[in-house]
Amino acid sequence: MLSALLDLVLPVVCGGCAMPGVAWCRSCAGELNDAPAPARPRVDPGVPVWTLGPYRGARRNAVVAAKERGRRDLAEPLGLALAVAVARLRRWGECPAGPLIVVPAPTRARAARARGGDPVTRMACAAARHDRSLHVHPVLVTARGVRDSVGLSAAERRRNLAGRIVVRPCPVPRALPVLLVDDILTTGATAAESVRVLRSAGFATFGTVAIAHA
Ligand SMILES: [Zn+2]
Repeated sequence: MLSALLDLVLPVVCGGCAMPGVAWCRSCAGELNDAPAPARPRVDPGVPVWTLGPYRGARRNAVVAAKERGRRDLAEPLGLALAVAVARLRRWGECPAGPLIVVPAPTRARAARARGGDPVTRMACAAARHDRSLHVHPVLVTARGVRDSVGLSAAERRRNLAGRIVVRPCPVPRALPVLLVDDILTTGATAAESVRVLRSAGFATFGTVAIAHA
């Protein structure tokens, strides 16, 4: 309601470059659709990690606006970039064909509520609208006691998350391959802990894709 009212009074600008008049311009769309490249985070999740490029420019602005500035509409271009990345990985033989379970990396519940929902899940759902073989199951949640990770070292991030990412009890089929998705890859600590708990819950996680690496 409030956002609909704000749309009426605030001019629309591109979420990547602030160009007035469009929510997401062609040039930023081009920048976001870079091919996925393998990344080597400090904390190794034990599965291949891909990102669409460095955390800067349009990619960074879109992630920040979706996460911090209430730009829910940017889930659409971010989700499209994710769907295109999956299609490319399939073409390269890096990602299984057929149905995939897409698990969004967990967001701290309170942080997500404060921002009006989880932008990573929203992005994953947008990707699934473009590719019907993707089935989004937000089964990962963070338990109480997880601090904001900004400014923490890799070791501190690991300690912060150890034992605090949990798999929600859910009737999700374990036979399908699982792709973990996130917006930003930093130390790899979240991906590593997520893959570990998914595996111990019986999910066959084959890789992880992030929109950007910091
Ligand atoms: Zn733009």
